[in-house]
Amino acid sequence: MENCIFCKIIKGEIPSNKVYEDEHTYAFMDINPINPGHLLIVPKTHYTEIKDYDEETGMYLFRTAIKIEKALRKSGAVKLEGTNFLIANGPAAGQEVFHSHLHIIPRYADDSYKVRIERKEKPTMEELKQVAEEIKKNI
Ligand code: AMP
Ligand code: ZN
Repeated sequence: MENCIFCKIIKGEIPSNKVYEDEHTYAFMDINPINPGHLLIVPKTHYTEIKDYDEETGMYLFRTAIKIEKALRKSGAVKLEGTNFLIANGPAAGQEVFHSHLHIIPRYADDSYKVRIERKEKPTMEELKQVAEEIKKNI
């Protein structure tokens, strides 16, 4: 897609620190890492969000992400203690680049990146069931 920064990276029109590519995916270093070693994995086809993927796209993306996460650990390039995989879908979820991508974020027990939040009251089993039933109808 025209004017898409990640499409341009995939085509080599703007520079990136590539670590891997195959027929379907491209992996490179995030330019503004949350922690050192922060990587992005993108489908080569331009999809804005997960809702636009076909099944194979998700499979290829996750396959590459697992391969790269293992390589990151094995390399010892950063002394990570854990990782998060993150995909933001839409601005409300924090998406800023609208070519869907999966973040691999190296984590440390005492880093300042927060995923955990304080949760409010727990819904009842009946309330959970109502939501579950609505979802089930649409699978
Ligand atoms: P998101 O908020 O999930 O859309 O994340 C976009 C990510 O893309 C951010 O972590 C940025 O640092 C990263 N990013 C933006 N432009 C580039 C670029 N040219 N090369 C590498 N990473 C980039
Ligand atoms: Zn794109």
